[in-house]
Amino acid sequence: MIKEIEIALLPEQVNIYNSLEKAVAQAIRIPREKINFISILKRSIDARKAKVLIRLKVKVYTLESHPTEEISSENKYKYVQNADPIIIVGSGPAGLFAALRLLELGLKPIIIERGKDIHLRKYDIADLNREQKVNPDSNYCFGEGGAGTYSDGKLYTRSTKRGDLNDILQKLVSHGASCDILIDAHPHIGTDKLPSIISNIRETIINHGGEFYFERKIVDFLIKDSNIKGVIDQSGSIYEGKSVILATGHSARDIYELLNSKEILIEAKPFALGIRIEHPQQIIDSIQYHSKSRGQFLPAATYQLVTQVEGKGVFSFCMCPGGIIVPAATEEGQIVVNGMSNSRRNSPYANAGMVVSVELSDLQAYQSHGALAGLKFQEDIEKAAFNVSGNGQIAPAQRMTDFINSKVSANLNSSSYVPGLVSASVHEILPSFIAKRLQQAFVVFDDKMKGYLTQEANIVGVESRTSSPVRIPRNPETLQHIQIKNLYPCGEGAGYAGGIISSALDGVAVAEKIRK
Ligand SMILES: Cc1cc2nc3c(=O)[nH]c(=O)nc-3n(C[C@H](O)[C@H](O)[C@H](O)COP(=O)(O)OP(=O)(O)OC[C@H]3O[C@@H](n4cnc5c(N)ncnc54)[C@H](O)[C@@H]3O)c2cc1C
Repeated sequence: MIKEIEIALLPEQVNIYNSLEKAVAQAIRIPREKINFISILKRSIDARKAKVLIRLKVKVYTLESHPTEEISSENKYKYVQNADPIIIVGSGPAGLFAALRLLELGLKPIIIERGKDIHLRKYDIADLNREQKVNPDSNYCFGEGGAGTYSDGKLYTRSTKRGDLNDILQKLVSHGASCDILIDAHPHIGTDKLPSIISNIRETIINHGGEFYFERKIVDFLIKDSNIKGVIDQSGSIYEGKSVILATGHSARDIYELLNSKEILIEAKPFALGIRIEHPQQIIDSIQYHSKSRGQFLPAATYQLVTQVEGKGVFSFCMCPGGIIVPAATEEGQIVVNGMSNSRRNSPYANAGMVVSVELSDLQAYQSHGALAGLKFQEDIEKAAFNVSGNGQIAPAQRMTDFINSKVSANLNSSSYVPGLVSASVHEILPSFIAKRLQQAFVVFDDKMKGYLTQEANIVGVESRTSSPVRIPRNPETLQHIQIKNLYPCGEGAGYAGGIISSALDGVAVAEKIRK
């Protein structure tokens, strides 16, 4: 007999096979000796009641049956050295997963990346944190693996309808991610594990005849009769291909400027902007798990908050339990913060973006910038945040209680943010329609999570790169740019994805359209 059942266990029972076996045997009313094997299919934490439970969906094989499913080790990638070349600009999740799918489809990916390979990139990241120097081509957003490399590596998405999520997760596992991501309801990888996975993906691509070029910034397109033939890098080298996948992410402002200057249609689109909030992890654990400490069997607790204030969405974004806040600017003279964590999520801090929707109607003062209105708005706020200290990557901050009372903090809480914080009026750096809504939303959130509004939390400015403020419009059928043939805007920078998984899924979708 093979049976799928759902059971709930205490956290301390989950990793003990005997406890699991006993619970399963009781649930299906057979003696324990009759169970051959138990495979966990899904795992989630249920903290709705005082006693926190781990909910499992398991497949039970009794003695007369055997587990036959295994992760497919079949190599589906073709050797493509002499196949039709497809240019991919950008090696983030969209570019990399487009490349893997092209290999499966028998087309040759040629990836061109402005940043450095993963090994060299880590030195620039270290410099950014310690020396506070921003390398405009190698930072938390640019370089091998894109913005997803030094991140929390959360792998959930709301856009599962867009493609085969399981295929993306399987590919990550076959390149070194833990099998846990296949069963967890909210899988994540962690920044300590992501770099080796990314370099394994590069190896797969090169071993199957694809090509990789680092430190080549694309500065122009080769277009004839509204048909893209290739791209040109900063040294004048030309890369020609049958199609061009433009997967440059939402921080490649120079690419939007280039498209705009060449009168290749782009559009302003709504996005969201706000701050990053950092609590002691222990406060979040005690709220979410209803007890003083989470103990040794539960992971650092997460949260997701959303409300409407005066008709606008205010929501938490990219919550990093047991994580750190990082400087995510791509140029000197800007302050942008984001969050990441390692696989064990064991820092004493919990941080999350807390952002307000920005509609095109909020950008009246920027109308003269046309399609770049949102981008210029973002840029001005990032500069204003920088001007507070005018010094490296030191970020403006405020205690949460002072932020809601529009008061500068006499002093700040300790923080995970390595470059350092300076006490400032974050509520004045943000446009008032954003600051006011955040202030009101925090009171609502404290109602939902008692103890969330606390002077022990810091507000850190600014969380401005949540999603792209620009869309590069494409034909919904062919996924090609609506004016330029064989140009495939892809991933977060094209405005069609947000996050690692949805960008990867978009890369796959574009590769399949190219094959067609
Ligand atoms: C610190 C941080 C933490 C994050 N945490 C998470 C998380 O936990 N979960 C999640 O789902 N998402 C997270 N995100 C967001 C996620 O990383 C992005 O949504 C995702 O990486 C977008 O994928 P992409 O391939 O579309 O673009 P990107 O990842 O931005 O990749 C674009 C690539 O294009 C390159 N490029 C840009 N311009 C050029 C050019 N002119 N020439 C050549 N190359 C160019 C860049 O160097 C970059 O490598 C995080 C982001 C950051 C910054």
